Amino acid sequence: MQWETVIGLEVHVQLATRSKIFSGASTAFGAEPNTQACAVDLGLPGVLPVLNEAAVAMAVQFGLAIHAEIPEVSVFDRKNYFYPDLPKGYQTSQMYHPIVGAGEVEITLDDGSTKRIRVHHAHLEEDAGKSLHEDFHGMTGVDLNRAGTPLLEIVSEPDLRSAKEAAAYLKAIHSIVTYLGISDGNMAEGSMRCDVNVSVRPQGQEAYGTRAEIKNVNSFRFVERAIAFEMERQIELIEEGGKVVQETRLFDPDRDETRSMRTKEEANDYRYFPCPDLLPVVLDQAYLDHLRGNLPELPAEKRVRFETELGLSAYDASVLSATREMADFFEEAKNVCGDAKQAANWVQGELSGALNREGLPIADSPVSARQLGELVARVMDDTINGKAAKQVFQALWNGQGTKADDIIEAQGLKQVTDSGAIEAMIDQVIADSPGQVAQYRDAEPDKRGKMIGYFVGQVMKASRGTANPQQVNQLLKEKLDALC
Ligand code: ADP
Ligand code: MG
Repeated sequence: MQWETVIGLEVHVQLATRSKIFSGASTAFGAEPNTQACAVDLGLPGVLPVLNEAAVAMAVQFGLAIHAEIPEVSVFDRKNYFYPDLPKGYQTSQMYHPIVGAGEVEITLDDGSTKRIRVHHAHLEEDAGKSLHEDFHGMTGVDLNRAGTPLLEIVSEPDLRSAKEAAAYLKAIHSIVTYLGISDGNMAEGSMRCDVNVSVRPQGQEAYGTRAEIKNVNSFRFVERAIAFEMERQIELIEEGGKVVQETRLFDPDRDETRSMRTKEEANDYRYFPCPDLLPVVLDQAYLDHLRGNLPELPAEKRVRFETELGLSAYDASVLSATREMADFFEEAKNVCGDAKQAANWVQGELSGALNREGLPIADSPVSARQLGELVARVMDDTINGKAAKQVFQALWNGQGTKADDIIEAQGLKQVTDSGAIEAMIDQVIADSPGQVAQYRDAEPDKRGKMIGYFVGQVMKASRGTANPQQVNQLLKEKLDALC
């Protein structure tokens, strides 16, 4: 039997407001426990929430970016449950009238193809606090710094069909929210996490299978691994005559498996009702137009422009538009050197290689976009050859100079294109290598092409890498063939 996996994601994005969604307390990460929680976040009686307009604007910007309907009215509801990190006894969320309606997100797969994933809706809610189980002499501590941090929960339709598609969707969301600047997208700090709903069905069957929901997965890799495990588990279970039960599971990255947390029977009844402390949010057309007018160029638009206007391949365009930092870096380098293709090659090749080796984000690159652009310009006007260019790049990377031109000058890397000088070096190498010359002469003419490499190497060495390789090849061939 052939099985198909069906996946829907509920992504929680922490919005980058400076204060909380219903209070003036700071949202900064990493402060001492309970130093950034005011009376509202602590759930003290007699306080009233005040909606943070910045959170509303950010949610709407996201909605506009995914071409979603933005309803005129949205409403906050109370989701009631008891937990130590939720002293109020309810989370303020939006159940029935979310701020963002149906929209869609385009994902790019490894082969460069794209697919549209429908978003059911996105709603605003507050985060809860955090229980701390370490270092409390056998007791649990509660830190309410995170309580009231604004979250945007983005709920997809079950349109994803593989672990790869799910990861690509999460990356697309990450890319949109960081382009918009509405979240720092820092997954390690929990700024983005998701609940992964997975079911399987026989290939060709219309009805969906029963799903399991894997809670709080916080990295692209974990999403893929959790789905890979979960689909195997469900297929095996069904093939052995069992039934998938609707339940909540958690992913354990150390053991690479998902485990049951609670089944539907034990699920909470949240008794949602409209929050009496908050007025419905009403958005007028002028406000939406204002936000729409100020949207930056988004990843999908940038990708298309890189392809159609700059002539990059689909693959290059998708890699270079994936993050705003990467795109800005590439565009500046391109503007400095004047050639998109060359700039793309250098950003994805030498630069990305060096960044990966040292685990640095592009924002912390020791070589700036301008410096890289100036270096590429010197390759393009034939001042230096490719080999010397790599040397200059290393020097810039190591801080041995701040301008490519200065390094080329100081290290004597200017390409030798004077054919007289190159011929002199060739004559010297030929004179010094009688054995190799004899072998070349005795070889079958079609084997000689390979043998020329030795001579090229010697001449390049004699020029300390600065001779123009095409000229060296050309002149060497002429001179050696004249000896045959
Ligand atoms: P609930 O309100 O019970 O959480 P929803 O219908 O809102 O359920 O769905 C929550 C998430 O689960 C959505 O992202 C949706 O796409 C996904 N989902 C729903 N049904 C399935 C299914 N059969 N298989 C996989 N994902 C599903
Ligand atoms: Mg749900």
